[in-house]
Amino acid sequence: MNNMFKAFLIKYAEIGVKGKNRYIFEDALVSQINNALKGVDGKFTVQKTTGRIYVQAESEYDYDEAITALKRVFGVSGICPLLQVEDTGFEDLCKTVIEYMDKMYPDKNTTFKVFSRRARKNYPRSSQEINMDMGEAILNAFPEIRVDVHNPKISLNIEVREKINIYSEIIPGPGGMPIGTAGKAMLLLSGGIDSPVAGYMIAKRGVQLEATYFHAPPYTSERAKQKVVDLAKLVAKYSGPIKLNIVNFTDIQLYIYDKCPHDELTIIMRRYMMRIAEHFAKESGCLGLITGESIGQVASQTMQSLAATNEVCTIPVYRPVIAFDKQDIVDIACKIDTYETSILPFEDCCTIFVAKHPVTKPNLKVINASERKLEEKIDELLKKAIESVEIIIAE
Ligand code: ATP
Ligand code: MG
Repeated sequence: MNNMFKAFLIKYAEIGVKGKNRYIFEDALVSQINNALKGVDGKFTVQKTTGRIYVQAESEYDYDEAITALKRVFGVSGICPLLQVEDTGFEDLCKTVIEYMDKMYPDKNTTFKVFSRRARKNYPRSSQEINMDMGEAILNAFPEIRVDVHNPKISLNIEVREKINIYSEIIPGPGGMPIGTAGKAMLLLSGGIDSPVAGYMIAKRGVQLEATYFHAPPYTSERAKQKVVDLAKLVAKYSGPIKLNIVNFTDIQLYIYDKCPHDELTIIMRRYMMRIAEHFAKESGCLGLITGESIGQVASQTMQSLAATNEVCTIPVYRPVIAFDKQDIVDIACKIDTYETSILPFEDCCTIFVAKHPVTKPNLKVINASERKLEEKIDELLKKAIESVEIIIAE
C-alpha cells in the first residue's frame, strides 16, 4: 500500500516563523530534511513552494526508512504521505479518491470530511463544489461511511495544483526548531543516560551540537570510548554530525588525586572538565555548555555542588534535565534510542577515582584552596590535554 506515495507534504508549526525569520526557518528545515534523507535508500528532492515544503521521491525508495528519517528532523510537526495524480478530469479524480479511501480505511464504519484547496484557479470546479461532489461520490461508493463536518475521523485533503495531491494521514514529527536556526553549544557527553538526552533536548531547539568526552586510559577502556562515540552517532541522527573532542584526562585526574583531599575529587575533576570543555567551546564559537546534570541525583549534583562546578564557567551552562526525575530521563532515552547503549556496563573516568564519601556541600573557599595545591603543574597538564585532543566526527 505504501508504495502508492511518491511524495510527502511536510507540516511545521507556524509559531516563531513569522516575518523575516520565516526564510531562515524554512531554509534550515529544507537543508535538514535533505540531510536526513541522505541515509535513505532512494532519490529525493525537497521543494519549498509558497509556504509549504514537499518531499518528492525521484526513484523507488524505502517508505519506512524515509518516514523514520523524516520523523527525526526537528521543526517537522507532521508528515503527510501524498498520493499525486495528473488532472485527467473530475470523474477520474473521484475514482482515484475512492480507491485511495478503500485502501487506507478498510473499516468504513467511520466519518470523513473533504477539505479541498485550489491553487490553480482554472480548475473547472470551485473548492466548495469539489467538497460537495467528492463527498457525494464517496458516500455513494461506501454506504456505511458518514460525513461529519465538525469532528471527522478522516480529514480528506484534496489540493489542486499542477498535479492533484490527495492526503488524509498526518504522521507526527518531533516538533522543535530546525538545526541551524540557533547557535552552537558544547555538550559534555559521558557514557551515561543523562547527557545524550540533554544534548537531544537542546538540539531540538535548533542548536547545533559539538561534544567533549573525557576518558582516563588505561583506567578506562577503548570499549568505554567506543560507547561514547556510538552515543554521539545516535544523537547525531537527530542533530546532524557532531564533532566529538576526546580528551585524555588521566594525568589531570592522577595529579588531583595526588594533591587534593579525596572527598573533593569529584567536584574538582568536574570543574576541570568544565574549564576544558569551555576552552573548546570558545575555540569553535559555541555559545554555551550542555550537561546532563539533575538536582540531587548524586553528590556532585546537589545545589552546592552545581554552584561549585558552575563557578568556573564564563559562558552559560544549559542543563535541560535539571528538574527531571531519573525515570523521565530514561523515558526520553528509550524514545530516542540511546538507552540500550547508555546502560552498557563500561567504566567511566569519574567512577574510578571517586571517593567513598564525597562532599555533598562543597564550600567554595575550601575548593579554591584545594585547587591552589595544583598550581605547580596544572597549567602544563591542561595544555597537554588540550593539545592532544582526538577529534572524531560522529555522523
Ligand atoms: P550521565 O548519565 O550523563 O553520565 P550522571 O548522572 O552519570 O550523568 P555525572 O557523572 O555526575 O552524572 O555527570 C554529570 C554530567 O557531567 C554529565 O551529564 C555530563 O554532562 C558531564 N560528564 C560527566 N562525566 C563526563 C565525562 N567523562 N566526559 C564528559 N562529560 C562528562
Ligand atoms: Mg556519568
